[in-house]
Amino acid sequence: MSSESKTVESYVAKPRTLADLRAGITAGTTKAADLAASYYDRIAEVNPRLNVYLSLTRERALAQAARVDETAAKGDPLPPLAGIPVGIKDVLVMEGAPATAGSRILEGYRPPYDATAVARLEAAGAVLLGKVNCDEFAMGSSNENSAYGPVRNPVDTERVPGGSSGGSAAAVAANMAVATLGTDTGGSIRQPASFCGVVGVLPTYGRVSRYGLIAFASSLDRVGPFAANVRDAATLLGVIAGLDPRDATSSSAPVPDYAAESDKPVEGLRIGIPAEYFADGLDSEVRAAIERGIAALQAAGCTLKPISLPLTKYAVPVYYLVATAEASANLARFDGVRYGYRSPSSDTLSAMYSNSRDEGFGAEVKRRIMLGTYALSAGYYDAYYLKAQQVRRLLAEEYLRAFADVDAIVTPTAPTPAFKLGEKTGDPLAMYLADIYTVTASLAGICGVTVPSGTTAAGLPVGMQVLAAHLNESAAFRVARAVEAAKL
Ligand code: GLN
Repeated sequence: MSSESKTVESYVAKPRTLADLRAGITAGTTKAADLAASYYDRIAEVNPRLNVYLSLTRERALAQAARVDETAAKGDPLPPLAGIPVGIKDVLVMEGAPATAGSRILEGYRPPYDATAVARLEAAGAVLLGKVNCDEFAMGSSNENSAYGPVRNPVDTERVPGGSSGGSAAAVAANMAVATLGTDTGGSIRQPASFCGVVGVLPTYGRVSRYGLIAFASSLDRVGPFAANVRDAATLLGVIAGLDPRDATSSSAPVPDYAAESDKPVEGLRIGIPAEYFADGLDSEVRAAIERGIAALQAAGCTLKPISLPLTKYAVPVYYLVATAEASANLARFDGVRYGYRSPSSDTLSAMYSNSRDEGFGAEVKRRIMLGTYALSAGYYDAYYLKAQQVRRLLAEEYLRAFADVDAIVTPTAPTPAFKLGEKTGDPLAMYLADIYTVTASLAGICGVTVPSGTTAAGLPVGMQVLAAHLNESAAFRVARAVEAAKL
C-alpha cells in the first residue's frame, strides 16, 4: 500500500447478495423489518458524510417489510425481491415523497403517483428506502451539480462518485441499499457505477418504461439498475423491464429471464474491441485494468476481434446538441406555476416565470437550456439539430454493422478513474469529455452493462463497459459475469 492510500477515507462495505438475503427471508431467519431497520441505521451512520440520501420513505418501507414478513410467516411464495432494500434516484417519482431531481426548482414538489419502474420493484417485494442524490435534472458527470451538495465517493471521500446517478452508485458501494435505480442519458448509470466499483445496467432504449421519470432528453433517457454483482443487476432488470402502456416508446418484446441468461457460459462468444476506445486520452492504469479484463474473457473462451468505430469522434458533440435541445424543451414546464419553487418577489406574471427559473435552476441547467434553445432556433436548426440527428443515425448504423460480426463490444467505461471533487467544476468541456465512451451507446439506443474490472494502484475502481445490440442485454450480462468471475 502506498502512503497515499493509508490516508484515504473509505466507506466501502461488503455487499450482501440477493440470493443470500432471499434465502434468509424465505427461511424466516432474516426478517424484512429488521433488514430495513439495519439499512436505516447504516444510512444514519454514513449519510452525513456521503450525502447519498436526500429523503427517506421510512413509513412506506416499513409497511412493505411487514407485508413481506407476514407472507413469509404464512409460508406463502415470495416474489423475487421480497424484503430487498432499494434506493431510488430522485428523478423517479414516488407517490407523496419529495422528488427534487437534484434541483431547487422542485423543492417542495410531491408527485401524486409512482413511476412504473418504482411500482414494479415494490410489486416484486422490494422495500423502498428513499430517494438518492443526483446531478440537477441528471445533467452532469460528477454529482457536483446537485443543488443539495455533492455525493462523496465511498471508495475515497475526496473523490466524486461520478454522475449523474452518483447517489445510486454510492448507495450500493457503501451498502446503504442492496440495489438502486438510476437513469442514464449519456452515461449516468455506467460512469458512476464504474467510479464506485459496482455494476450498472444501461437497458436498451424502450426496454424499461420512462413513465414517472422527470425527463431530461426523452429520446435518450433510460432507467436501469445498480447492484453489487451482475446477477443481482440482471434480476432487477427482469423486474422493471417490459411493455408499459403509459410509455409509448416502451418495447413489447418479451422479457427474458436475465438472471438465468447471465449464468450461461461465454465460451465461443465473439468480443469486439474498438480501437477508438483505446486511443489518446485513456488513462494508462485504466487501460491496463481493461486489458486484464479482456485477457480474462479470452481465457474464458471468448474470441477477441479488433474492430473500428470511426464515427466515435463525433459522439460527444452530437450528444451535447441532441441532449441540450431536448432538455430545453422538457424543462420549459418548470416556470413556478405548476411545480415546486415560485419566486416570491415578482410583480408581473412574466417576471414570476423568469425569476422562478433564474432562482430555481443551477448554472449547468441554465447553460444547457441556452445551448439547446440556440440549437433549435430558426436558422440554426438545420445546421445543428438536424445535422446532429443525421450523424446520430450513422452512429447507430455503425454499431449495427459491428454487431453483425460480434456478440458484444468491450471498452473502458470512462477514460479515467474517479476524479477529485472540484477538479473539473470550472471547466464544463473537460466534464463533458468524461462521457466520451458512454454517449455513443446512448445515441445508438443499444444496451450495456458496466462491471468492475480491477482497480488502479491506489485502489480506485475501473469499470469495463460491455455493449450489446438492441434487446440483447443477455449477451452483455453473460460477458460481464465472466469478467466478474475473474476477480480482477
Ligand atoms: N454526463 C452526461 C451529461 O451531463 C450524461 C448525463 C446522464 O446520462 N444523465 O449529460
